[in-house]
Amino acid sequence: MEIEIIEMTETSAKFLVTHSSPEVVNSLRRVLMSEIPKMAIETVEFHLGPIKDAEGKEYESVSPLFDEIVAHRLGLVPIPTDLTLKERDKCECGGEGCPSCMIGYSLFKTGPCDVYSGDLLPLAENDTGVRVKDDMIPLVRLGEGQAILVYAYAELGTGKKHAKWQVTNGVGYKYLPSVKIDAAKCDNGGTCIPVCPKHCFAKEGAKVKVVDEKACILCMACADPDICKTRAIKVEGDPTQFLFEFETDGSLSAKETLLKALDILEQKFDGFKEQVSSLEN
Ligand SMILES: [Zn+2]
Repeated sequence: MEIEIIEMTETSAKFLVTHSSPEVVNSLRRVLMSEIPKMAIETVEFHLGPIKDAEGKEYESVSPLFDEIVAHRLGLVPIPTDLTLKERDKCECGGEGCPSCMIGYSLFKTGPCDVYSGDLLPLAENDTGVRVKDDMIPLVRLGEGQAILVYAYAELGTGKKHAKWQVTNGVGYKYLPSVKIDAAKCDNGGTCIPVCPKHCFAKEGAKVKVVDEKACILCMACADPDICKTRAIKVEGDPTQFLFEFETDGSLSAKETLLKALDILEQKFDGFKEQVSSLEN
C-alpha cells in the first residue's frame, strides 16, 4: 500500500491510496473511526448549593438544563490530545488519575450569560497547550441569579467505547475513477454535461471534454445509453486505487491521526500474522 497526499490541512486530509485492495482501505477506515485514542471529558463534578462571586453576590448553582445534559455536552467538547499521555486504567497511578493520564478543567460562570466551551480553563497553571481550541461551542444559557461551577476531568479513550472519543468524521473512500470519451464515437452533443452531478464534463470549443475526472462518483449517469446514445463514454473504478478523505474534530491534527491509524493497523496485521503462524506450527 502506498499513500500520496493530495491535500492536508490541520483538520482534514485527502489522499490517494495505491497498490491496495478494498479490504485494506476499509480496515484503515474502521481504525480511523474507532481506534484512535483521544482525550475527552469523562468525569464532571458539579458544585452544589449557593455560589458567591468576587463581590459577594450570591447565586444559586442551577441552570436550565439537567446536570447530566451539561456533563454530556462537556464530554463532546474536543480536548487537545497529546498521544504520549497514558490510558487511565493502564497508568502508573493505578487509575486514580494523575498528570500522566488526566487533564483537569474548571468552569465558573454567573448568569445571565451564555456558557461556551472556551470558558473551560485548565487547572494546571501555565498549561496553555491544553486550552480548548474551539472556544465557541455553546454549553448552556444561564438566567438571572443562576451560576455554574464545575470541575471536569478528561481522559484517553477510543471511539469503540463512546462517540465522544471519536477523533474523525466524514471518513470515506471511493475507487479511483477513470472517465474516457471515445472521440471516434462521440457526437459532441453535450447530453452528458447536465446529468453529471459532479460537473466532470464541459465543452471546450465544439468538443465535449472530461474536465474533472477525480470528482466522478461512478454514478454512471453519463454512461446511460439514453443519455449517451453513441455510447462513447466509458466510466470505470479502479479497485486497487482509492481516493480517501477524512476530517478530525481538532483534538488531533489530520497528520497525527493518519500516522497513528497506520501505526495501529500495522500492529494489528503483525499480531494477526503471528497468530496465523502459531497455528501452522
Ligand atoms: Zn495516572
